[in-house]
Amino acid sequence: MEKFDIIVAGGGFAGAAAAIAAARCGQKVLLFDKSNCLGGAAVNCLVNPFMPYSTKVDGEFKSLSAGIFEEILNRLTSMRNLTGEMIYSDRKRIFSEEQLKLVLNEMALEAGVTLLFHAYLCDVIISDGKIQHLTVATKSGNIDLTADYYIDATGDADLAVRSGCSYHLGREADHLCQPMTLCFRVSNVDLEKFEQERSQIQTLYKEFKASGKIKNPREDVLIFHTIQKNVLHFNSTRVVKLNPVDPFDVTRAEVEAREQVLELYLFLKENFESMKNAELLSTAAEIGVRESRMIDGLHLLTGKELIDCSKFEDSIACGNYDIDIHNPEGSGTSHYYFPAGQYYEIPYRSLLPKEISNLLVAGRCISVDHEAQASIRIMPIVCCLGEAAGVAAAVAAKSNVVPANADITEIQRILTENGAVIH
Ligand SMILES: Cc1cc2nc3c(=O)[nH]c(=O)nc-3n(C[C@H](O)[C@H](O)[C@H](O)COP(=O)(O)OP(=O)(O)OC[C@H]3O[C@@H](n4cnc5c(N)ncnc54)[C@H](O)[C@@H]3O)c2cc1C
Repeated sequence: MEKFDIIVAGGGFAGAAAAIAAARCGQKVLLFDKSNCLGGAAVNCLVNPFMPYSTKVDGEFKSLSAGIFEEILNRLTSMRNLTGEMIYSDRKRIFSEEQLKLVLNEMALEAGVTLLFHAYLCDVIISDGKIQHLTVATKSGNIDLTADYYIDATGDADLAVRSGCSYHLGREADHLCQPMTLCFRVSNVDLEKFEQERSQIQTLYKEFKASGKIKNPREDVLIFHTIQKNVLHFNSTRVVKLNPVDPFDVTRAEVEAREQVLELYLFLKENFESMKNAELLSTAAEIGVRESRMIDGLHLLTGKELIDCSKFEDSIACGNYDIDIHNPEGSGTSHYYFPAGQYYEIPYRSLLPKEISNLLVAGRCISVDHEAQASIRIMPIVCCLGEAAGVAAAVAAKSNVVPANADITEIQRILTENGAVIH
């Protein structure tokens, strides 16, 4: 069995950034993912655009998510120059997932990361409170992989949970998670007419909902522009009260959401001039999961700490995206917006599970409560969490200590030197 210094499970924004950061620190890194590319929800679930990640200080916008995330944005811009296509709009934070896949492959391979796609985590061997090795299921059977350190960036904390780490699911009272959403795209839209009809779409949708003609529990239609001509992006299906890590529930969610796609598409096509020639271009390969398992780490970051704009000595990332909770039970979306110039910090301890000493967790499944998760879950922030986990694993490896004993000052120094914003 070939041995690595660090194995990263999952290649979304968190996992890709973790692997790139660790490999750039000189570590021998393997990243495996069940899909065929890097990008995670951004590519498998067609999640777009990047949610806002800056705040206004003295009249100027200051980015709170930089480092590897900023480098990805710069490479997306260079890719546009290469292809002559409009691939990234700064103003709307829209990006091309096809270009993103290329950029992330390029960055991972340049850093020397070994990539293993089409590999599904299926077993973990633990002894002495450490992961000894893990097993992935592949086309040619199971493969064992071993390393000194592991980073769980699966979004659902699959590796941590299989290793026996404690976790919580959804909100505290009833464990319901934010809704799942199957994103889809509609082409051949007359965008000029669409802008004129935008508010009428919302009005008629509400009327149809009130009269029972629309079954989708979402309160309105959430629509974004894309980088393609005459194509609109819909983040507007909503499946509630199902468990995103129960395979039968997820199957039901996929079926229900697909019916909602048809319902919305026909509603638009049959009632609006801008959509009369529209075509259902694509649905995401997988339904999007906003929230599922979150580990019980050394520090549980809470919504209250976010609202208080708490600062931590072991901060490794910052954020100020609103606490954006899509109702886990039905209609409605609640928001808590941070005042201009205000932001919170995320402590390193929230990346460390209590039970397994050679494991870090990055991405939307770190140690947070339901409310805090509703803010830290966006792509710019999880990318920074991944970068921090990668650097921390490398710092731990260099001094041969467990991540909980890694030198936080050194982790922060490397992150800051690489352009990350941690305070
Ligand atoms: C519908 C929806 C809309 C959203 N809208 C926005 C938005 O507009 N803007 C924004 O910034 N954020 C948005 N978000 C949030 C954001 O997309 C995610 O929270 C974020 O991308 C999560 O990143 P991650 O790296 O933690 O996990 P993921 O992106 O989920 O990556 C996890 C990776 O692990 C792999 N994996 C999982 N389990 C296994 C396993 N057992 N074995 C092997 N591989 C595995 C997966 O294939 C995946 O590649 C949205 C999310 C959803 C679901």
